[in-house]
Amino acid sequence: MKKIVMKFGGTSVATGENIRHVANLIADHAGEDCRVVVVVSALDGVTDQLIQVAEEAKKRKSEYIRDFKQKILARHLSAADEAIEDKQVKEEVEQVLKARVDELEQVLKGIGYVSELTPKTRDTVLSFGEKLSAPIVSGVLKDIGLKSQYLTGGEAGIVTDSNYGEAGLLMNVTKYQVKKKIEPQLKEGAIPVITGFIATTQDGETTTLGRGGSDYTATIMGAALAADEVWIWTDVDGLMTSDPKIVPSAKTISKLAFEEATELTIFGAKAMHPRALEPARNENIPVRIRNVFDPKNPGTLISKNHEVKTKDGVKAVTLVNNVAVITVSGAGMVGAPGTAAKVFDVLGRENINILMISQSVSESNISLVIQRSLLERAVSTLDIHLLGRDFIREVEPEDDVCVVAVLGAGMKGMPGVASRIFTAVAKEGINVRMIAQGSSELNVSFVVKETDGEETVRAIHKEFKLDKK
Ligand code: ADP
Ligand code: ASP
Ligand code: MG
Repeated sequence: MKKIVMKFGGTSVATGENIRHVANLIADHAGEDCRVVVVVSALDGVTDQLIQVAEEAKKRKSEYIRDFKQKILARHLSAADEAIEDKQVKEEVEQVLKARVDELEQVLKGIGYVSELTPKTRDTVLSFGEKLSAPIVSGVLKDIGLKSQYLTGGEAGIVTDSNYGEAGLLMNVTKYQVKKKIEPQLKEGAIPVITGFIATTQDGETTTLGRGGSDYTATIMGAALAADEVWIWTDVDGLMTSDPKIVPSAKTISKLAFEEATELTIFGAKAMHPRALEPARNENIPVRIRNVFDPKNPGTLISKNHEVKTKDGVKAVTLVNNVAVITVSGAGMVGAPGTAAKVFDVLGRENINILMISQSVSESNISLVIQRSLLERAVSTLDIHLLGRDFIREVEPEDDVCVVAVLGAGMKGMPGVASRIFTAVAKEGINVRMIAQGSSELNVSFVVKETDGEETVRAIHKEFKLDKK
């Protein structure tokens, strides 16, 4: 008997009609010889709306909350109404939706009363997106005659640490719990519909896995259940040579090794959560990215040993937005050992992840790329702990930048790739702000002004003729 985990992203479940389509797609595969575990995202755009309402709640905007409550309930009720025919099933789902939206309202009011939004309460608010989508999807499966049960990530057995917002997976306990909770359901022929993105601490507090985390939930389930494959259904044909929204001629990459695909996701191929491939890679479970609106398309297969080298070695070019650069400088830093280590240590203690580093040849400054949302915290931490000490004279932030990453395993040791990249960029008159000391040799990444980002990506896509591959 085969076991497949299928994850459906926000656009795949954006409306009642889409959810009905998704349910039929599941029904095409689920049966005696193939057990399916479903992971779902929140309806398209809902997580963003929850982030916003949490902020508004902190400002005690009770009118905004009331309005939001009505809108979010109406949207989900209408999706359920559109997708479910059976009266009893529909009523059951409606009850769950109403109860959960009431619960959300209580949480938002609570945030208003204390005028405080902690990372923990924020995760609780964000969890409602998936907590509202899963019951609908499960209801539609029942409606078309399948056995199904909806569960939160925590109920399915996914356990994390308490790093709210970007919680760390505890894989051993998760494996044990997931097997215990999900295998009996599969034996009975039921299709579990699990909320992506959200999990729980060992004390039962709700956590989230970071934006785009439903992909991660899918591979966690796949690894824990030793699935045959994990299928990530999305709104494009697969992982592509670039974001088709930036480069309309981008092509789907049919096969990729785990290592390459991981680089691609870390460097902004938004189609996937950056850590999503870890569990699959560890357990050697193939991952397919497929288009929910074109199920005949084979999509992208990510697995071991697909180091298909192309002539130039370059396979894709991506754009990472929402980043910022901090430059730490001081003439006295030249030859002073350990300055970089101190900077990393200070930021590490604040849980600020460094995406890229570069040091000037003269050693008089170090530039770091971090997530833009962490910029203020990073700068104030560096100011408090380092400014004026250890020869550090200046800490300068820049937030109008982006990272362009050029990726491909075949680039390893191939001379001339970097010069072609930077010549192509220079020809467009674009100034490169900073180049990373790439460690993996699977990518060359650099910083340009935010306004130059898309043009840079297109220039490189063209230089390496990625649309012809
Ligand atoms: P989902 O809701 O299914 O999780 P996402 O919006 O998270 O989907 O990711 C899919 C989107 O990622 C696509 O619509 C596409 O615009 C964008 N994207 C960015 N880079 C790439 C790439 N290299 N390949 C495919 N899609 C990409
Ligand atoms: N709903 C979450 C988000 O928007 C998780 C996901 O869609 O993967 O980030
Ligand atoms: Mg996503």
